[in-house]
Amino acid sequence: MTGRQVRVDVCVVGLGPTGRALAHRAMLAGFEVAAVDPRPERPWVPTYSCWADELPGWVPRTAIASRIAAPTVWTNAEHRIQRPYCVLSKRGLREALPLDDATVLRGRATAVGAHRVELDDDTVITAATVFDTRGLPLPGTRRSASAHGIFVDAERAAPMISEGEGLLLDWRAENGAGPGEPPSFLYAVPLGDGTVIFEETSLGLRGGMPQRELRRRTLNRLAAHGIRLRGDERTEAAHYPLDQPPPRPGAAPVIPFGARGGMMHPCTGYSVAASLTLVDTAIEAVRAGTDPIRELWPARARLVYWMRERGMFGLGRLTTAQATTMFDAFFTASPRQQRALLSAHDDYAALGAVLFLTVARTWPFRWRFDLVGWTHRNRWVGYEYTPSDPVLDPVLPDDRGIGR
Ligand SMILES: Cc1cc2nc3c(=O)[nH]c(=O)nc-3n(C[C@H](O)[C@H](O)[C@H](O)COP(=O)(O)OP(=O)(O)OC[C@H]3O[C@@H](n4cnc5c(N)ncnc54)[C@H](O)[C@@H]3O)c2cc1C
Repeated sequence: MTGRQVRVDVCVVGLGPTGRALAHRAMLAGFEVAAVDPRPERPWVPTYSCWADELPGWVPRTAIASRIAAPTVWTNAEHRIQRPYCVLSKRGLREALPLDDATVLRGRATAVGAHRVELDDDTVITAATVFDTRGLPLPGTRRSASAHGIFVDAERAAPMISEGEGLLLDWRAENGAGPGEPPSFLYAVPLGDGTVIFEETSLGLRGGMPQRELRRRTLNRLAAHGIRLRGDERTEAAHYPLDQPPPRPGAAPVIPFGARGGMMHPCTGYSVAASLTLVDTAIEAVRAGTDPIRELWPARARLVYWMRERGMFGLGRLTTAQATTMFDAFFTASPRQQRALLSAHDDYAALGAVLFLTVARTWPFRWRFDLVGWTHRNRWVGYEYTPSDPVLDPVLPDDRGIGR
């Protein structure tokens, strides 16, 4: 027990990419900043990507590990998206966000209040403004993003992904899932370190999709392109909720920010670039003495969130054939409309238009009822994945340890 007392202008609780960016930019803006994390120096784990034009101007090029000029989307046909996409360099991003002049505290916040944060070692931080950037809880039965990623040597990956190419969404029927099984797609991009990540992903299902199922699907896709793994490739796993709503002004004692504060995109599972972009809005509100939640979440941004949430509900109830057709319709929309769904914080008019057009262009006609939730609203709720035995049917790398 230290009983230490710290008094600052701004306290940031949680040093993921969002919290670190907020603390760094607040420090640069002249505030006295305290930032808390149980392991402040720990490298971030997930692979973060985004559209290149989503990053704010203050993020340097060194924060980008690899860039894909025109990524590919496979639906019923191949689409080349003329919009550069990038994988972030976690080290580069961290180095771009130094906290030299901030008070960085190692500890777990046990109480986070509007002006007071208590840590598990008895430290108490008093601050004029407290941001809660502690990320998301486990999803339970919430609508989720689930992914199993395998890092494959670029040479081995070449039959599917060559230098400078990337597959954002691959809906080709190569993952072995039948029409009566929940859908998932492949995401595969080069990481700029000699590897390519192949990540089977499911979005919008209640409770998500098990890792075992996702890995089996990834292996099926790789096999369909003649790619065999060594077996000891590194992997990553994603399992988090997509439905964390924006805070209401006056309702939250602290200011939730980042994935915790409604910035997780309900349809894509991305939050990093959006959060980086909104950091300065939050800091400017603190400087001006206005309510950051009001500035971050004007009515038009809330409307955008609400519409995206409808999109996520739709995603979570479609079959593979329906999802493929729906994305086919979406990727024929104008660049502004695509951006309104994928990126823009508050372009509600273009988003309303693209959602309407996507439904209107989906064929056969009766599938539109599923899209809007008039039919099969809970299609995959309670779906039981085929049980598989780790010994008799080794899929995950750990299974081999058990089974052989
Ligand atoms: C495999 C995978 C791939 C992903 N790919 C992408 C992608 O391509 N693009 C994208 O935008 N997003 C991606 N995501 C989602 C991404 O992880 C989140 O969007 C992002 O991490 C959210 O950042 P954050 O700073 O808000 O929260 P987090 O990164 O979750 O950080 C929260 C921080 O709070 C700290 N903390 C927690 N509790 C406490 C406490 N009590 N006291 C103090 N500190 C605490 C944690 O230690 C952590 O450092 C991916 C996720 C996974 C798992």
